[in-house]
Amino acid sequence: MHIHTYPDQILKVKCEPITVINGDIQTIIGNMSKIMYENNGIGLAAPQIGIPMRIIIFDVGKKGLTTVINPIITLNKEEFISMESCLSIPRFEAKIRRKQLVYLEGVDRYEKPIKIEAEGLLSACIQHEVDHLQGVLILDKASRMKKETYIRKLRKHNKRNRI
Ligand SMILES: [Zn+2]
Repeated sequence: MHIHTYPDQILKVKCEPITVINGDIQTIIGNMSKIMYENNGIGLAAPQIGIPMRIIIFDVGKKGLTTVINPIITLNKEEFISMESCLSIPRFEAKIRRKQLVYLEGVDRYEKPIKIEAEGLLSACIQHEVDHLQGVLILDKASRMKKETYIRKLRKHNKRNRI
């Protein structure tokens, strides 16, 4: 398993909820955390490793690794600007408008209910990962100019590297 990068179509898929948390799901979660840490990420969503299922993981340093299956978020109105990058969009960074407070619900890998209220970096990270499950990338949220510049650079880069 590896990280799928833009414009891989898996990143555009609306992911399916998980109905049974079996051994396969445990394996997927294990692979996700391995890949996230290997790449120094603070969050990862299953579609980023090619699995269109509603699983996100994150670790912004305070509480260690958190896994959330079938996450649902409730947002408040206050916004802030968060500087974000994404493991699926190499060499891209953009200011993204996020909600300040997020209330996250779901279950962990042992089917234990999870309820997290987050703000700041963790809030932005959770919104970023849940966006992935809807097929939404920070490229879609960045300004049109930033997106177009990135796509142009990516084409040049790929040509150079013959991929
Ligand atoms: Zn991402």
